[in-house]
Amino acid sequence: MNIILLGPPGAGKGTQAQRLVERHGMRQLSTGDMLRAAVKAGTPVGLQAKAVMERGELVSDAIVSALIGEELDQMGPQAGAIFDGYPRTAAQAESLDEILAVRGRKLDHVIELDVDEDALVERITGRFTCANCGKGYHDTFEQPREPGVCDKCGSREFKRRPDDNAETVRTRMAEYRAKTAPILPIYEARGIVSRVNGMAELDGVTAAIERIISG
Ligand code: AMP
Repeated sequence: MNIILLGPPGAGKGTQAQRLVERHGMRQLSTGDMLRAAVKAGTPVGLQAKAVMERGELVSDAIVSALIGEELDQMGPQAGAIFDGYPRTAAQAESLDEILAVRGRKLDHVIELDVDEDALVERITGRFTCANCGKGYHDTFEQPREPGVCDKCGSREFKRRPDDNAETVRTRMAEYRAKTAPILPIYEARGIVSRVNGMAELDGVTAAIERIISG
């Protein structure tokens, strides 16, 4: 199964993708995570992407599509794929069709997380992750059970994304509205789009996604 999770920054794509990974052994393909890893490792792609990401703008279509192709090849043909944060432009949507077709895969569902934009800035600026295992937390909505200790792996180190500040978030939202939201009709025409209320509590969102992928 191949699924796209679509929605503005902070809609919950990463959190829901992590849950699908845990429940179904699918693979999460997050171009944001891949790019952050490249920046950290100081690869040529990372060096090119760093400043663009800090501004909240989009990295070139060619770079992200190449990353997706490489990741799909590494995971082999059996595992299902959850695309999180990709495609983000019409050109990427076109590339994804090709990338999947040459690997004998096809898109099953595009799940749009529908959210109230005003709530997103608070969601994003409060979020942080475990520096060791990547589990996501939030200052207001989901603190670790024991303060300062990761629920999942026990690490005491956490990190915040440099682009999760109010100013950059506004640029990221504008990029979503201008370049990403317009790709929805491509998938609507194929009859594979489902909408989920991304403002519901986390378990409710997960249940709604489960209904879509099992139905
Ligand atoms: P994300 O983790 O999905 O919020 O992505 C963080 C940042 O990485 C974005 O603001 C972009 O600068 C860049 N990025 C991630 N995925 C893509 C993509 N599919 N196309 C272009 N830029 C991307």
